[in-house]
Amino acid sequence: MKSASVELPAIQNWSCHGCSDCCRGGMAIPLLPEDRSRIEKQNWTDADGIDPAQMIVAGLTQSRLGHRADGACVFLDSKGRCRIHAKFGEAAKPLACRLYPLVIHPAGKKLLVGLRFSCPSAAANQGRPLAEQGTDAQKLARIFLPEDAATFPPPPVVAVPGLAWPDFLRFVHWLDFTLAAENAPVALKLLRGLHWLGGVERGSLDQISGESADEILEALVKNSAEKTSSLPKVSEKPSGFGRLFLRLLVLEHARPATVADQAVRSSHRWKMLAAALRFMRSSGTTPALREELRSVKFADIEKSFGALSPASEALLTRYFRVKIQSLQFCGRAFFNRPLLEGFQNLVLLYPIILWLARWLAVSAGRATVSEADVLRAVSLVDHQYSYVPYLSWRTRLLHQRDDIAKLCAWYAR
Ligand code: SF4
Repeated sequence: MKSASVELPAIQNWSCHGCSDCCRGGMAIPLLPEDRSRIEKQNWTDADGIDPAQMIVAGLTQSRLGHRADGACVFLDSKGRCRIHAKFGEAAKPLACRLYPLVIHPAGKKLLVGLRFSCPSAAANQGRPLAEQGTDAQKLARIFLPEDAATFPPPPVVAVPGLAWPDFLRFVHWLDFTLAAENAPVALKLLRGLHWLGGVERGSLDQISGESADEILEALVKNSAEKTSSLPKVSEKPSGFGRLFLRLLVLEHARPATVADQAVRSSHRWKMLAAALRFMRSSGTTPALREELRSVKFADIEKSFGALSPASEALLTRYFRVKIQSLQFCGRAFFNRPLLEGFQNLVLLYPIILWLARWLAVSAGRATVSEADVLRAVSLVDHQYSYVPYLSWRTRLLHQRDDIAKLCAWYAR
């Protein structure tokens, strides 16, 4: 990837503010064989505050960094700093830690860079413009990506592969263009994307290429904006099946899923099973899953909350555009799924985020969703997005029943 040009979202800022959330979140940090041998050679001892027997956990296929009982990384010191970084420098850390929260995806001669919004600085758009950080991203890509990454083919647009990267990226450009529209709520923009991609599928236009492809896609995008000038009527309630599946997806994204939780696996399983039963019934109250997600009435979450504030709309637009621009929704970044299916799944995140934001608001005794609720909900969802096992039949079924569009409209109200 030596000659690859780097593309970073111009709409996004990020600098690490050293909050150490990523070291406390309790997610498993995978170690490459070279990470493991480097850490083993660093000769950590009890005198450094490290129990050498606990610092690496060997797995069947991959090792991971050890965690303390409170879920924090064993290398996190009492001042919130990484001991490896402090003693040996940034380059001595495991690659996953050096990369986070950046995500880098090869796209032929380009490297597309995005961010995980589980990092509070990324979600809040704080720090240096990402567009100025190309050199750092390129350095990481050289370490992180295999030599032959430029030869990785693009995923199919619908089902059949075959497009070259420049033609595949035309579809990505028009999706981003759709989300960039002003004066439209993000839910409507997502539905427009589904609408014109549906036209691509029905018209077997997934193999179009060259400049004429841009003309066709532009016409489809304009047509979808005219045809879907507003959200579906609220009276078109999602089916009971759609709402059930949505609640189960909410539960997957809301549940604590840290290494510490898994350590008490059997009690955690029972707790999650009981929570799933309540989410399936959806009468009465939700289980309390986290300090901020308390036991509240399902009915209070399902009632109308009104339109989101402009700041929340801007945050959600930025979130979805960064995912699209960096390809973090399809292909190798998302279970090797085609662009269409990956986008359908991405759209599903909207009602999941809004459900969680409502739950956070009701837990705090409020009847409106604040920007802070949306920010936290985005962070919770992105903590698991593309990590939780993906059940493609679920997304396809919801799409076939038109429930994805209805769920977006229902939770946008
Ligand atoms: S969560 Fe983000 S801001 Fe906080 S330490 Fe990690 S990378 Fe830095």
